[in-house]
Amino acid sequence: MTDEPKVDWFEASQELGRLMDEANAELDKMADECDPMLKLAVTRWAMKHIVDHAMQGGSYRYLIYQRLGFGPEAYAPLCDSGMVISNEFDISGMDTIKEVVKEHTIYVLKPYLNMCDEPGCYNQVGSGWPTKDGGYRTTCYQHYNSNKDQHR
Ligand SMILES: [Zn+2]
Repeated sequence: MTDEPKVDWFEASQELGRLMDEANAELDKMADECDPMLKLAVTRWAMKHIVDHAMQGGSYRYLIYQRLGFGPEAYAPLCDSGMVISNEFDISGMDTIKEVVKEHTIYVLKPYLNMCDEPGCYNQVGSGWPTKDGGYRTTCYQHYNSNKDQHR
């Protein structure tokens, strides 16, 4: 028999979720009250480091300690989104994936890779535009220009 308190893990996870929701609401309030130029500078700084991380890779700890310059106090507050960034945002293989999609003509993946919707074209989307028939297309600049008769 131990004297350790019983922990109801379900209740503990519910409480953690509630605290995270409160912290996120406070974060939104802080961002709303922030000087617009400071908010823009911090967002630009964060986006630059996130893209660097997506292109170069690394662990969550590398992201928050080396790239962003925080200490251990940042581990828990940044964990929620930071883990997603660290684990899911690897764009280093995108060129290879696009080549495979083109080589095997896997049309169904083209929209997810931001590729032109014109059949047989695998160029990067340069424009999204409404069509006369009520649709919406995403094409490269070449197909944006060659389909001007379809533009609404
Ligand atoms: Zn195209």
